Parts: sequence; structure tokens; C-alpha cells
Amino acid sequence: MTNQMSNIPTKIYRENTKEIAIIGGGLAGLTAAVYLARDGKNVTVIEKSSKAGGRARTTIKDKFYFNQGPHALYANGIGPKVLDELNIKYTGKKVDSTKYYITKKGKLYKLPTKLNEILTTKLLNGWGSKVEVLHFFIKLNKMKLDQLYSLSFQEWLDLNFKNPDSKDFVKMLGRIATYTYNAENLSARLALYQVKTAVTGSVVYLDEGWQTLIDQLVEIGKRNGVKYVHGKGVVTLQQDYAHDKKNPQQIWKISLSDNTTLSYHNVIIATNPFHVYSLLKDNKKVNSEFLKQLENINRPARVATLDLALSSLPNPDVYGVYGMDTPLYISLHSAFAKLSTDGNGVLFHAMKYLDSSIGPNPLEDKLQLESLLDTIQPGWRKMIIRQRFLPSMIASNTVINYNNNETMENRPDTEVPGVNNLYIIGDWVGPDGMLADASFASAKAVALSILNNRKAIEMHTIQ
Ligand SMILES: Cc1cc2nc3c(=O)[nH]c(=O)nc-3n(C[C@H](O)[C@H](O)[C@H](O)COP(=O)(O)OP(=O)(O)OC[C@H]3O[C@@H](n4cnc5c(N)ncnc54)[C@H](O)[C@@H]3O)c2cc1C
Repeated sequence: MTNQMSNIPTKIYRENTKEIAIIGGGLAGLTAAVYLARDGKNVTVIEKSSKAGGRARTTIKDKFYFNQGPHALYANGIGPKVLDELNIKYTGKKVDSTKYYITKKGKLYKLPTKLNEILTTKLLNGWGSKVEVLHFFIKLNKMKLDQLYSLSFQEWLDLNFKNPDSKDFVKMLGRIATYTYNAENLSARLALYQVKTAVTGSVVYLDEGWQTLIDQLVEIGKRNGVKYVHGKGVVTLQQDYAHDKKNPQQIWKISLSDNTTLSYHNVIIATNPFHVYSLLKDNKKVNSEFLKQLENINRPARVATLDLALSSLPNPDVYGVYGMDTPLYISLHSAFAKLSTDGNGVLFHAMKYLDSSIGPNPLEDKLQLESLLDTIQPGWRKMIIRQRFLPSMIASNTVINYNNNETMENRPDTEVPGVNNLYIIGDWVGPDGMLADASFASAKAVALSILNNRKAIEMHTIQ
């Protein structure tokens, strides 16, 4: 009998132990819950906040639907496929970039998208840079991305572009598609996958914001028996053993911020890497390399966003602008989605991609965004109905192995190594996609793995 066996408490009985807990009720947690519950699993979602949705929540203020910063669904990405499988409906339009501009050295240039625009634009200095950009678009579809595991996006740019303008242009595309400022922290494979997904399929702005996805996920979950516990954070997670007459069975004991304790056979953590580390760092069975990897996750991709509702549009000729030499973005989301309850007014999202190697400077960041708005929408200040500035939002949790030059991309697998029946999901887990696509993909992968292993999981006992 092992040490653990001698530590077995005798008070937990199998009938008190529920099947699956999901810690975190953002897109990832809610998606996994629906996949599992519609296949008959007994699921509880435990969410720290009073409302579900995490970073994908939308709030209605002064009749406007405010997503938390600019949220766009990648039409060719994993998200729409998962939503379709779960029968989640949404409406909204694809972004048409006709009225979008690029700023370089303080001047505005039309965003070149067509062949002749790329060849004639004054944005790209010299024939060489135009040809390099053209080449990039021609090659993008056929690029063998799997061969790029070992390169950062910055290294890939340095290897593939001789001209500063073409390099900056493609770097800008990567920044917009991945929400990541630090190209040296980003895997070339993932960055180019995102750019390809955005360029080939465009993105959709959703009517009434991303809350429409959250509400349907919760609704379908409820219909399939998912229980939602809100307003209680998970503080600790410990391995324990439940008994019946014959044999003990490993379980997970969860303690909540209100001091209650619950026990489950399977736990899916759908929060963030920092929280996962805090829950697991003292568990001696969890693989130490995995814990070390989590310790390295200290540079998520952050953004500052200014979300802005105006009574009308000062300049109807410009819907958006991207910075080529500055990490700035503005887009008129209401041009492509219904984002006010009565159809009046307009809604912009302005955003700065933050450099994770230096501290944020909210005052300066906000001034920069306002000044860019002055350039494209003069007079906007007089039309403000509501604005909200979020100075440092995590757009993407990234896992970088700084000590190992062999691979840029070592996002952890969905199964926590060293222990049984413990899983992680979110935008930093698994091999597929980035941003919400990674949350959807990892949620589906874990749900399928639990469902396929149904027997093994139910029969599992201590060896
Ligand atoms: C400004 C901005 C713009 C973005 N734009 C896009 C975009 O255009 N396209 C795109 O695909 N993605 C975008 N994203 C990313 C997208 O929002 C996220 O990838 C997605 O919402 C992540 O979902 P998640 O469930 O993995 O994590 P989260 O949404 O972070 O959910 C985690 C949940 O866990 C809960 N939690 C935390 N700690 C505990 C605890 N101790 N106990 C219980 N619960 C806990 C949190 O409250 C939260 O609800 C953007 C993000 C931001 C911030």
C-alpha cells in the first residue's frame, strides 16, 4: 500500500463525487460543457465571476453592445466549425476593407488588397518591396506551415524579406491577425496560419456582440443539464480518493472561495496558465517539466483598447486604419454588425498592441489612440455617447520556451502530464489555432477525449 493510500480520508464516498467539473466559464469552458453534456455527461461549470463569458462577454451600455475590445470571428477558422457543430447561430457581416487605410510616418495610405493596388501603392517604397509583398500573397496559400515549428515570426520575417517596407507590412498583418506585438515571441507557424485564415476567409463582426455566442452556449448547456455555479472562484485542487465497499477511486477535490469543497472524477481547468500553475505547483505527481513550462508563461500578448460609441460618423469615407510603423488599430465595427439596440449611432474599437518587454503606459497609449482617431474622424470628441478604456487586456495567452531554441511552439497538451483525469483548455493549449479558435479547438479535443475514454475513466482505480 502506497503512502497515498495510507493518507486516504474515509469520509468521501463515491456517490458524493460528481462526474465532471469545468473550472472557468469563458468560451472554452462553456464549449466543453456543451459537448460533454449533450453526450449525457454530468457537468458543473464553476465560474469566479457573477456572469459567464470571460473575455468574450459583451455589456450593453447606453444602448450599445460593447465587446471587450475588437472581437472578430475568423470565418475560415476553427470557431465557426465548432459553433456549427453545436448548432449555435449568429449573424453579422464579413469586413469589407474598401474603406480601410494604413498609416506610415503619420501619412494615410489606402489599404492595398488587389494586385494592381499593391503594385501602384506609395505605401511600399520601391519596386522590390511591392514584389516581395505580392510574392508573399501568392505563396501564402501553399506555404508548408508545419516546417516552421522552430522559427519565431520575427526570424521568419528577417529570413524572407529584404525590404523594410515589405517586412513591416507583413509584420503588421501578423500583428492584426494574432493580436501580438512581440513577433519574437510568436511562432512563425501560428502567425502565418492566422494571417492565412484572415486573408482567405476574412473576419465576421457579430450582431449584438459575442454575448450572442455565450448566451446560446449557456442555454444549450442548461437544456442538457449543465449546472452553473457563479460568483465562486476555485482556490485549491487536490487529489484524493473516494470509497465504495470494494475499492478506492482517485478523485479531485475542489475548494471554492466560500470555503465549500466539492469532489469530481474529472476536472477541466479552463481559466489561464497562471491559475493552472497556482493550483498545481504543489502537486508532486504533476510532471515537473510541465510545471516549469507554466512558470515560463509570463508574457501574454496584451492590448490597450478604447471602445467608443458615437452619435454619428464624422467621416463616412474611413472605416478603419492600421498602423504599419505604429502598433495601432481602429475599426468601425458597427459598419458590419448591429451594435446598438435601436440601430442608431456608431461603434468603434481602437486598440494598441502592447510591447510585453516594457511596462504599459496607459496615459500615453490612450493619447496615441485618440490622436489617430483625430486623424481619421475629426470632430469625434463632440459625438461621444460612451467610451471605455481598458488599458491592459490579455488578448492571447502564449507559452514560450525561452530556454530551448529548438522549438518556438510548445503549447501544452490538453492532458496534464503525470496525473489522471485532469485537463486544461484555453487559448494557450493544444496545437490548433490562436485566440478564440484555440479555446474552441482545445475544448472540443478534451470533450472528445473524455467521451472516447468513457469506460477507462469510469473504471479507473488506484494501481
Ligand atoms: C481585446 C481583445 C480582443 C480580442 N479579439 C479577438 C478576436 O478578434 N478574435 C478571436 O478569436 N479572439 C479574440 N480575443 C480572444 C478571445 O476573447 C479569447 O481567446 C477567448 O475569449 C478566451 O476564452 P477562454 O474561455 O479560453 O478564456 P477566458 O475568456 O479568459 O475565460 C476564463 C474564465 O475563467 C474564469 N476564472 C478565472 N479564474 C477562476 C477561478 N479561480 N475560479 C473559477 N473561474 C475562474 C474567468 O472569470 C473567465 O470567465 C480577444 C481578446 C481580447 C482581450
